[in-house]
Amino acid sequence: MSAVRVTPLLPTYARQSVTFVRGEGCYLFDDQGRGYLDFLAGIAVVGLGHCHPAPLEAARAQLGRLWHASNLYWTEPMVTLASRLSDRFGGARAFFCNSGAEAVEAALKYARKATGKAGVVALAGSFHGRTLGALSVTGQAAKREAFEPLLPLVGFARANDISSLAELVGPETGCIILEPVQGEGGIHPLEPSFVAAARRLADGSGAVLVLDEVQTGVGRTGTFFAWERLGVRPDAVALAKGLANGLPIGCLLVADEAPEAFAPGDHASTFGGNPVACAAARAVCDTLTDTLLEAVEQNGEALRRGLTALSAVSEVRGAGLMLGAELDRDAGPVVDECRELGLLVGTAGENVLRLTPPLVVTPAELEQALGVLHEVLR
Ligand code: PLP
Repeated sequence: MSAVRVTPLLPTYARQSVTFVRGEGCYLFDDQGRGYLDFLAGIAVVGLGHCHPAPLEAARAQLGRLWHASNLYWTEPMVTLASRLSDRFGGARAFFCNSGAEAVEAALKYARKATGKAGVVALAGSFHGRTLGALSVTGQAAKREAFEPLLPLVGFARANDISSLAELVGPETGCIILEPVQGEGGIHPLEPSFVAAARRLADGSGAVLVLDEVQTGVGRTGTFFAWERLGVRPDAVALAKGLANGLPIGCLLVADEAPEAFAPGDHASTFGGNPVACAAARAVCDTLTDTLLEAVEQNGEALRRGLTALSAVSEVRGAGLMLGAELDRDAGPVVDECRELGLLVGTAGENVLRLTPPLVVTPAELEQALGVLHEVLR
């Protein structure tokens, strides 16, 4: 009989049997004092590594000044962060919230209000979050079924199949929503030509093109936004995960040239724009220099080469330091064995090992991780 821990938590997660108490750089430490090389980084969240001094100092300083005032007023960290993100985007305005799903909800409401049209086209295999709106545009039956009926008028095209997308986009489509690299769906990058076709179809039908960069954004794929690599400028982008290096934050960015929509009263979030989270996020933006982004690209290539050389790996997909290795076996037991040997990795589907190490990972840490994977995947 398996030992099930009885706790006062609702059982929404199948947690692994380890309790972490501390993090430093690319390492996490458990309650027994054991260190683990963290190649998941809180699922693509802790981009600068655990307790990085820049967001740590920024958050500490802000904690001593002001924690919360409400969106009835202006606060300085929120405005500064919005202008940093606007500069990176090349002209955009921000709505701040607390998570990826909330950023997607804001995007769906933005698209509905901007176009007056309720139709949404998303992709099969996509993942956009667990709230009812975000789940409605998530193309994975297993996650949706228990919660149907969801939002109507949502269609799912096949990723990288332009004619399947063209068939679904029509005059009633208000929003096309895509992840530049599908994350939870198995680490599947979209081809630039497919995203360019989505841009054309959105323009042709009067829809807005939303990129869900909750996982790909903030440097994960080697550029601040993944759309920079694709060469397609979206109308709006959803960000979260890595933005404040582990403090809760989400953001909808709407391009300056995209249609106007929101007016006071249309959308809100009590904690959105929290001064401490925004101060940390500003420090993250300032730390993500071009040099660091180039290192993401180079280390990503090195990790890709190392993974490709493993005989149990049939394909390596992804971009930058968001990689998926398709295995010849179930990925779950591999995750457990790696953890036993002091390496944390994740899964993205049954046979896919997910690697999203901190963006500051060193070549020596890459070697260490590949050594463990070599041993486990013999
Ligand atoms: N969108 C994408 C692409 C994601 O990967 C995730 C989470 O994994 C979400 C949205 C939902 O984010 P959150 O869990 O912060 O609500």
